[in-house]
Amino acid sequence: LVSRKRQPEDTMVEIKGEKIGDGEQRFVFGPCAVESYEQVFEVAKAMRARGERLLRGGAFKPRTSPYDFQGLGVDGLKILKRVADELDMAVISEIVTPAHMEIACEYVDMIQIGARNMQNFALLKEAGAMKKPVLLKRGLAATIEEFIHAAEYIVTQGNEQLVLCERGIRTYEKATRNTLDISAVSILKQETHLPVMVDVTHSGGRRDLVLPLAKAALAIGADAVMVEVHPDPAVALSDAAQQLDIAQFHQFLDALIASGLYR
Ligand code: PEP
Ligand code: MN
Repeated sequence: LVSRKRQPEDTMVEIKGEKIGDGEQRFVFGPCAVESYEQVFEVAKAMRARGERLLRGGAFKPRTSPYDFQGLGVDGLKILKRVADELDMAVISEIVTPAHMEIACEYVDMIQIGARNMQNFALLKEAGAMKKPVLLKRGLAATIEEFIHAAEYIVTQGNEQLVLCERGIRTYEKATRNTLDISAVSILKQETHLPVMVDVTHSGGRRDLVLPLAKAALAIGADAVMVEVHPDPAVALSDAAQQLDIAQFHQFLDALIASGLYR
């Protein structure tokens, strides 16, 4: 169902009035994990000042270690929704279990399926059954073919509002957290009709690579780019090494605008 052969026209995904896949390139910003109302509000306020409305934040965090911060759960979703309602923004947040799907849909405008759950087929089917757009991230070691099959699990449930997200894959290279597979963007756009996003934060896992990877993503024709932003990354409860602070967020957008790659 997601094949370009079946549907030659691009699918456009609409999240509370924000469009992904309409030909214009969009950004998703927000902290790795929701930590407090104040933290989310500070990032969201800066986004709003730049005309950015797609707010992401993790409430259910799929952490590699069980001893790391696991997220605020439904309380985190409530914080996201409160901020989004106050500033007229849209909420994107990861759901990790089918049992949380319905309650989550009361708070989120787009359901994120994380890399670690790309082949959690029960979760994919449940997301496909919801009447909300879905953001599906590529698995840590998934081939493009496996990624497309995972997308098919969602769309076969009747939900065509789906965005694919390349977020780097595991290779032997240790200089970066993952290796951004930039060619996947072109291949996914050729082979499917779905919009493609690039997560430049988790791809490199390095703050100094966020800008160059975003330039590459925009240049190759990604429909959207995701970047993590935290008011004070040094004290962040997750992903401290890769999130931008508010000043860096503004510098990032200024640099992209100056480069001519972003409006
Ligand atoms: C995230 O975007 O919050 C995240 C955990 O990323 P990934 O699933 O790609 O590791
Ligand atoms: Mn993160």
